[in-house]
Amino acid sequence: MKMKTNEEWKRDLTPEQYRVTREKGTEAPFTGEYCHTKDPGIYHCSNCGEVLFSSEHKYDSGSGWPSFDAPEKVESVEMIADENQGMRRTEVVCHRCGAHLGHVFDDGPVTTGKRFCINSASLKLEIDKTQPLP
Ligand code: FE
Repeated sequence: MKMKTNEEWKRDLTPEQYRVTREKGTEAPFTGEYCHTKDPGIYHCSNCGEVLFSSEHKYDSGSGWPSFDAPEKVESVEMIADENQGMRRTEVVCHRCGAHLGHVFDDGPVTTGKRFCINSASLKLEIDKTQPLP
């Protein structure tokens, strides 16, 4: 995949998507499109379309951001040590296009112990119409 320039990303993304994914921003809690959704389907990267997460791994963490206990494919996300803003955190980015997705924490549910805390602006849900809606 040919990498886009910042100007091209700016042209192709919404201002909020650009701020979050290309400038490592964070959307305000409880404001994102997918914070509360339980629709079945696959969450793609909003920048490049890569498969990132599945609704089967989404859970309500109460944090105000879409939360998953695991990525759909472990190789789709890249973890990067992040010591910005006075915190030691682990950033999660799309392995294909480098979009900032969010962070992963060790306070997840018992299934994996991980909480992938992901901005809705980084995601695009493809609803699985063969599954019953919740
Ligand atoms: Fe991507």
